[in-house]
Amino acid sequence: MAKECIFCRIIAYEIPSTFVKETDDIIVIKDVNPKASVHYLIIPKKHIQDVQSFADKDIGLAGKLLLMARDLSKTLSGSSDFKLVVNSGKQAGQCIFHVHFHFLAGKQFDKL
Ligand code: AMP
Ligand code: ZN
Repeated sequence: MAKECIFCRIIAYEIPSTFVKETDDIIVIKDVNPKASVHYLIIPKKHIQDVQSFADKDIGLAGKLLLMARDLSKTLSGSSDFKLVVNSGKQAGQCIFHVHFHFLAGKQFDKL
């Protein structure tokens, strides 16, 4: 756990948040500033700064993050379609430096 990291503090239940799902390795919370009717954050419990910082041994965890998106899609009403966004690094717009996937659904999205 990184003391100053907001997501580590949420994982440690030090800061309240709306939990959608929790496993041994991952939490899913609602984004406080949603960009769609469904906007979740898929966050590994292990403090990893960004995608660039994944080690080869994190391959299992990386796969679980993706499979979590698949599982969340099954809980959606209407369409199971979703957009997965990772801002990895400052230039990409990352604000919280604990890696996370934005899971967005419930509307028609613009193409990249
Ligand atoms: P990023 O810019 O990719 O680092 O995204 C960080 C996201 O975390 C933003 O979409 C914020 O709205 C969201 N966020 C910030 N603080 C919290 C919080 N306490 N609980 C839930 N989401 C948060
Ligand atoms: Zn952290």
